[in-house]
Amino acid sequence: MNVSGLPPYDPQNIFARILRGEIPSKRVHEDEFALAFHDINPLTPTHVLVIPKGPYVSAADFHGSATTEEIAGFWRAVGHVAKSLGLEEPGYRLLTNMGRDSGQEVPHFHVHIFGGKRLGRMVSAG
Ligand code: AMP
Repeated sequence: MNVSGLPPYDPQNIFARILRGEIPSKRVHEDEFALAFHDINPLTPTHVLVIPKGPYVSAADFHGSATTEEIAGFWRAVGHVAKSLGLEEPGYRLLTNMGRDSGQEVPHFHVHIFGGKRLGRMVSAG
């Protein structure tokens, strides 16, 4: 287990394979620190994922282990992508699932950008 309570980074996870170009994705942005692409199963009219280039399993792993430069570069990319998608004026939601209780499916840290409609409650109360 690492800092997240998750297994160590698996370089065969699907987002690692997208980063290496081994499987296709609908890319919207790439820079030194981050890659952004459309979610394959969009939950809102705009649903984009932003991932860091480094091998971090989760938010806890990323914020605990990445360099300050990587963290700043990643979050700057998140803001840039949201703006470039036209979401800044109407607004948007950022979400990251972290570990078991969140239902995190892919063990490579990622931030969801949701937008394009009124988003309703933050989380289901059930
Ligand atoms: P999470 O539950 O936060 O780990 O979210 C994983 C997200 O990755 C889900 O919204 C999936 O629809 C999305 N996803 C899984 N495989 C792909 C893929 N090949 N390309 C784009 N998005 C994907």
